[in-house]
Amino acid sequence: MQVIDRTPTVKSFRFLPQEKVDFTPGQFLRLIFDPASPQNKELNKYLSFSSSPLNDYIEVTKRISQSPFCQRLCSLKPGDDIFFEAALGTCVFCADYKNIGFIIGGIGITPIISILEYVAQKELGTNITLVYSNRTEEEIAFKQELNNWRCENPNLKVYYIVTDCQPVDKACIFGRLSKDLLAEKFPRVEGWEFFIFGPPKMVEAMKELTQSIGAAKEQIKTESFIGY
Ligand SMILES: Cc1cc2nc3c(=O)[nH]c(=O)nc-3n(C[C@H](O)[C@H](O)[C@H](O)COP(=O)(O)OP(=O)(O)OC[C@H]3O[C@@H](n4cnc5c(N)ncnc54)[C@H](O)[C@@H]3O)c2cc1C
Repeated sequence: MQVIDRTPTVKSFRFLPQEKVDFTPGQFLRLIFDPASPQNKELNKYLSFSSSPLNDYIEVTKRISQSPFCQRLCSLKPGDDIFFEAALGTCVFCADYKNIGFIIGGIGITPIISILEYVAQKELGTNITLVYSNRTEEEIAFKQELNNWRCENPNLKVYYIVTDCQPVDKACIFGRLSKDLLAEKFPRVEGWEFFIFGPPKMVEAMKELTQSIGAAKEQIKTESFIGY
C-alpha cells in the first residue's frame, strides 16, 4: 500500500488487488472495515476510484477527518488486507461522448481523475472542459496531474475556481461558480454531457445553474458525495 499526500487535508491510498478489479471510470467502491456488520455506515464507506482501470493498482482518495473510518484508513500498514465491494455507480464515462463538461466541487474531483487518466492513456479525442471549484488554492487536489494532462491534450480545458480567498496563481479564477461563469466556459450546450460531482448542496446548486445555461435534465449526470 502506498499513501500520497494530495493537499494538506487530502490523501490518496493505493492498493495492489489480488485479482484485477473491473470498473468503469467514474465508479466507486465501498471500503469495508466492519465486514460483520454491512449496515455499519460509520466503518463501511463509499469512495470513488481516483485511478484509471488500466492501472495494475487501485487508488482511492479521502478528505482526512477525525472519524473512526478515517483513522482506520490512515493506520493501514503495507501488507494489511482490506475488503471492499466494487464496482458501484452508474454515473460513468462513455467513450461515445463527444463533449463533456465536468462541474466539480472539492473532493468530487476523484472520479474525474479516473476518467482523465483513462482518456490520457487511451489518447481519446473527447472534448472536455473541467470547471473545478475549491475554497482555497491549497485545497486544489491533483493540480499537477491536471496541468500535465492539459499540456498534453489540446482537447482538455481546465479552469480552477477559488471561492474564499484571492489565489496567488493568476490562472485561478477568484469568485463563486455563477451562471455567467458557466455560460462563458460552456458557450454551447448542445451535444454536451455534463457531470456534476461533489458535496450534496453543491451538486443541487450546480444542477440548477447548468439547466439555467440551457442544458436539459437528460444531459446532466450527478453524484452526491453524501457524508459531507
Ligand atoms: C458515491 C460516493 C462517492 C464518494 N467518494 C468519495 C471520495 O472519493 N472521497 C471522499 O473523501 N469521500 C467520498 N465520499 C464521501 C465518503 O463516503 C464519506 O461520507 C466522507 O468522506 C465523510 O466521511 P468521514 O468518515 O471522514 O466523516 P464523518 O465524520 O463520518 O462524517 C462527516 C459528516 O457527515 C455525516 N455523514 C457521514 N456519513 C453520512 C451518510 N452516509 N449520510 C448522511 N450523513 C452522513 C456525519 O454525520 C458528519 O456530520 C463519497 C460518497 C459517495 C456517496
